[in-house]
Amino acid sequence: MIDSRNLEDCQQRIRQGDRAALAQAMTLIESKLPAHRALSAQLLDRLMPHTGNAKRLGITGTPGAGKSTFLEAFGGTLIAHGHRVAVIAVDPSSPISGGSILGDKNRMLNLSRSDQAFIRPVPSSCHLGGISPRTRELILLCEAANYDVVIVETVGVGQSETEVAEMVDCFISLQIAGAGDDLQGIKKGIMEMADLVIINKDDGDNHGNVEIARHMYHSALQIIRRKYPVWQPQVLTCSALKKRGINEVWQAVLAFWQVMSASGQLTTLRQQQSLGWVRRQIEENALTTLFARPDVQLHYQRLEHMLLSKQLSPRACVNDITDFITHKIFN
Ligand code: GDP
Repeated sequence: MIDSRNLEDCQQRIRQGDRAALAQAMTLIESKLPAHRALSAQLLDRLMPHTGNAKRLGITGTPGAGKSTFLEAFGGTLIAHGHRVAVIAVDPSSPISGGSILGDKNRMLNLSRSDQAFIRPVPSSCHLGGISPRTRELILLCEAANYDVVIVETVGVGQSETEVAEMVDCFISLQIAGAGDDLQGIKKGIMEMADLVIINKDDGDNHGNVEIARHMYHSALQIIRRKYPVWQPQVLTCSALKKRGINEVWQAVLAFWQVMSASGQLTTLRQQQSLGWVRRQIEENALTTLFARPDVQLHYQRLEHMLLSKQLSPRACVNDITDFITHKIFN
């Protein structure tokens, strides 16, 4: 257990690649106890100078698209190239599914056995369909522990895809073809977010379906407004099961990285992401602090009652509580 006395030691162990220390630090970061929050902040402050050096990738896809099979193959290829890979698997549906979508212990079994890999399943601890804001800090911890490729994996549920896209450099959408799945990914929003679209299961009888889907995604991407002027999103195909097309995905990630770095777009993106995160956290903390005040709580309870008995419109309720809080702060 990390405490203020062994913080220095923990920091060093993380830097030296001690996976147990990294896992403990992640548990600390995820903790909601006020004492842990202060300790987390101290630990992150110490580790900050060692962050930012990884390629941050996001990967999403429906359950069954082949994410864990792909990550096994992809992670294995990266390790063979001399990289160190961390996977943060976030299950936004865990309050409903009990963590069954990403929580299966047998996922990525080979990758989890490698010394050069670290896998962390993260149940959703917050609002439904969203991922924990702490996930961004878990990425920083992985970077401080010298993982040079950090992958955040999630299923396409609710807000989770947008939230992952807001914390990574390269956002990958894993799709499958055939059996009516062809157009699944051409939903508004996902295509706009994707830097790479990968159609998996390009093997056996499925090759024809994959080719049709590839053309569809390619056409769709041509008409969507580009996320970055310097990068045209690409469509690739692979078979995670047969480990085909995996190196090509990595080459596409490297091409994206090169273009984004050279243009200065990567620096801008990370700065915007960092500032956006800070802003959201401040708003969340400010609200939590305000609603913890007994006078605000009491007033809000009264308003709730009036709202439910239709004496007050929702808009009037919002205006009233906003005025009440503003008055309390500034008078
Ligand atoms: P996840 O839910 O997205 O993590 O999907 P899994 O990786 O667990 O894969 C779901 C199923 O699809 C499993 O039965 C895999 O063996 C299978 N699968 C994954 N990738 C491929 C592939 O490239 N080709 C084929 N034929 N099956 C695959």
